[in-house]
Amino acid sequence: MIFAANFKMHHTRQSTAEYLDRLEALMEAAEYPFKVMVFPPATALQSSRDWITVGAQNAYPAKEGAYTGEIGLSQLEEFGIDTVLLGHSERRRILEESQEFIAEKFAFFAEQGLQIVYCVGEPLEVRQEGDEAVAEYLWEQFDGIDLDYERLIVAYEPVWAIGTGRAAKEEEIAATHAELRRRIKRPLLYGGSVNPLNIKAIAAIADVDGVLVGSASLDPESFHAMMSVVAPPQV
Ligand code: PEP
Repeated sequence: MIFAANFKMHHTRQSTAEYLDRLEALMEAAEYPFKVMVFPPATALQSSRDWITVGAQNAYPAKEGAYTGEIGLSQLEEFGIDTVLLGHSERRRILEESQEFIAEKFAFFAEQGLQIVYCVGEPLEVRQEGDEAVAEYLWEQFDGIDLDYERLIVAYEPVWAIGTGRAAKEEEIAATHAELRRRIKRPLLYGGSVNPLNIKAIAAIADVDGVLVGSASLDPESFHAMMSVVAPPQV
């Protein structure tokens, strides 16, 4: 099972370091069978810890160059970062990243051999049209993406469930992950208002190989609480 924390534009370099120290200490006692990833803002990128992979929330598809405001491969390499999140709905929607540009990023970072957490998700009006419309919408978000890339992890994150406190229903997650599983053999994460109260049910759904968590991951105690719900400490 994979636990991934997306800090978005929360936490500083200092508070990220403190967070990682605390999470490491909490995890140390438990020997969880999990793969844990934390995606802080670009200014807070730092080396991964023994049990925690630090990844980038975004990067420009170039080693370096005249791309004002961006970071590329050289900046990631300085911290040994080899995991990048691509296609998050906030970047698609607010920053208007096109599928073509996201696919260009994917191709570049796959060529460099990075682990890629690739996000897809439908808006509410598509969900309201039913499973078929959702499937069609999601597959379009895989245009230009190599589904067989061996370091691919897919995160299904319905846009209407992100940051709203309203996670998708278990049957919606199950149906969507089953659809994605038809063509994707790599890990499938669910994201969208996952918290310590709903994690147990979500983690138990077939084809859910992990979770991508925003709000409920910002506090290391809360993020860790989700792990201990899924794998209670042995006494
Ligand atoms: C996210 O932004 O990836 C996310 C899942 O956020 P939240 O957990 O706050 O819904």
